[in-house]
Amino acid sequence: MSQGVFVIFDQNQGQVRHVVLEVLTMARQLELGSVTTLTFGANASQTLKVLGEYGADQAIFWDQEPFTRYSSDGFADAIAHVVPHVNPAVILFPASAWGKDLSPRVADLIGAGLATDCLSLRVSTDNRVTAVRPIYAGKALAEVAIETPVQMFSIRPNIHKAIPDPKTPTVLDLAPVVSPDSFQSVVTERKEAQTGVQELTEADIIVSGGRGMKAPENFKLLDELATVLGAAVGSSRPVADEGWVPHSYHIGQTGKVVSPTVYFAVGISGAIQHLAGISGSKYIVAINNDAEAPIFKVANYGIVGDLFQVLPLLTEEIRALKANN
Ligand SMILES: Cc1cc2nc3c(=O)[nH]c(=O)nc-3n(C[C@H](O)[C@H](O)[C@H](O)COP(=O)(O)OP(=O)(O)OC[C@H]3O[C@@H](n4cnc5c(N)ncnc54)[C@H](O)[C@@H]3O)c2cc1C
Repeated sequence: MSQGVFVIFDQNQGQVRHVVLEVLTMARQLELGSVTTLTFGANASQTLKVLGEYGADQAIFWDQEPFTRYSSDGFADAIAHVVPHVNPAVILFPASAWGKDLSPRVADLIGAGLATDCLSLRVSTDNRVTAVRPIYAGKALAEVAIETPVQMFSIRPNIHKAIPDPKTPTVLDLAPVVSPDSFQSVVTERKEAQTGVQELTEADIIVSGGRGMKAPENFKLLDELATVLGAAVGSSRPVADEGWVPHSYHIGQTGKVVSPTVYFAVGISGAIQHLAGISGSKYIVAINNDAEAPIFKVANYGIVGDLFQVLPLLTEEIRALKANN
């Protein structure tokens, strides 16, 4: 009988992403048996230490050729071959760009049901897991149960708290089955945006601008506020589409999903597609000159006013507060 939880993830330049620790914590809390991890990428000894801190029982590392370059079809095929050896009841992926790309391919190959971008999981009877995931661009939450023997879920970052539970994981020497034909598409080059600013999905504070900013040069007002707050800068979609800011800033249904402690929505109306990307924020602060703007319905704090007056004042006040400690 299938049992245990299989957590599959890649690394960020040799580092374990925070979402993986959140997923490991969820895996343990399901109490469905042992937690086995499969890590793609180098730095196995350091990664093993981190996995042990967060309660992995067994760990598999694949960092050899051909796994040094991502191939969605090749990786999915190799994972599909290893699943019967691990024989899990549940497979978890982070709902990162990597996990979102890979998990449906694995689900298809092994004939498993998959619920994506889940916010929480709970075990019901007979080791079946029920997931809660957003639908209708975050307007509603659905409870999802999967009926296939292996149940697959991808987990939205920054929702679940990562809690350590130290163990000493056993390294499983499971050599991958590699079918050369399966590596049809391979990532040949990776270009990181050289913004010099924090990654939005990892940021604790985000200052985000919309069409109300009026022109690209006005984003310097947001940059200044972000600098004093130690925040990352984001945007609504039209602003990125207009080329006022890079596309990497775009937050929402078709952009990044963020979960900061504080999200400043500046000159953003609060369209449902934008809210889909920010509903995981702990506090939303809206600055808008239209008191009827929908953003105020979801904001914890709101300033009705002209952003061109509010932003410099806010930046100055925070700078003064910080200077006085
Ligand atoms: C399929 C689909 C997917 C989409 N995906 C996304 C997505 O992922 N992310 C996203 O953001 N959008 C998305 N959109 C677009 C979305 O519907 C909205 O059009 C968009 O979010 C509006 O952007 P905005 O709030 O910046 O602009 P607007 O709606 O034009 O709002 C500008 C706001 O600024 C305020 N304002 C103006 N001047 C000032 C001032 N001086 N001071 C203070 N406030 C001021 C106005 O009152 C207004 O509320 C999508 C749309 C579709 C159809």
